[in-house]
Amino acid sequence: MNEKRITILQLYPKDMNIYGDWGNVLVLKRRLEWHGYTPVLIEYNPGDSFPSDIDLVLGGGGQDSGQDTVQKDLLSISANLHDLADSGTPMLMICGLYQMFGKFFKAQDGHIIEGISLLDIETHAGPERLIGNIVTASSEFGDIVGYENHSGQTFLGTNIKPFGRVVKGAGNNGQDDTEGARYKNVIGTYLHGSILPKNPNIADFLIEKAVIKKYGEFTPTVIDDRFAELARNVALKRPR
Ligand code: GLN
Repeated sequence: MNEKRITILQLYPKDMNIYGDWGNVLVLKRRLEWHGYTPVLIEYNPGDSFPSDIDLVLGGGGQDSGQDTVQKDLLSISANLHDLADSGTPMLMICGLYQMFGKFFKAQDGHIIEGISLLDIETHAGPERLIGNIVTASSEFGDIVGYENHSGQTFLGTNIKPFGRVVKGAGNNGQDDTEGARYKNVIGTYLHGSILPKNPNIADFLIEKAVIKKYGEFTPTVIDDRFAELARNVALKRPR
């Protein structure tokens, strides 16, 4: 049997996985199957040994306390994640882990949660939580819909581009209209929701990058995304 496997690494599902982030894993698994690949899911939690042969990396959001819990371990696997990102491995990091892929998150009480500096961003807890439905626009992905809930205000450095521009909502910091960050095939974003069911083109982007890196070419199956389209339309009309 000619089984083509794609291995997804989910970072810290016990501590960093809220507001529907789990749905991103389900979408990737199902769409990989529809495209003719066999998804293999590896869950990575603190203390685990870092697996080899990873094709795609996913990370979710969490409470500040969850970020504290995983911080030491995340720093210990920083070199592995840098190597994967630099060699073009696609990654999707949501909210809490998006912040920790940056330089640091300075929490409300002033303590610093150090990140792995893969993204040239820094985050400072702000006076109010930025909560609600969000729509952003990206030249690559079109309208992106999701839900945000964070106290952190993220600021991009000079070496990084935003993932999208805010159409409705707060985004990185509520001030400069940027949302998320993009480095090579790594996407960092505040969009929970979960993001991939309502934005299947982003799921297929991650899959395409993973498949091309591993197998050299990717021929997508045409997938009937009518339900995703309906969900997007409802989400686009929802008030903030
Ligand atoms: N604790 C972080 C913040 O509030 C991350 C929140 C989240 O992941 N939803 O900014």
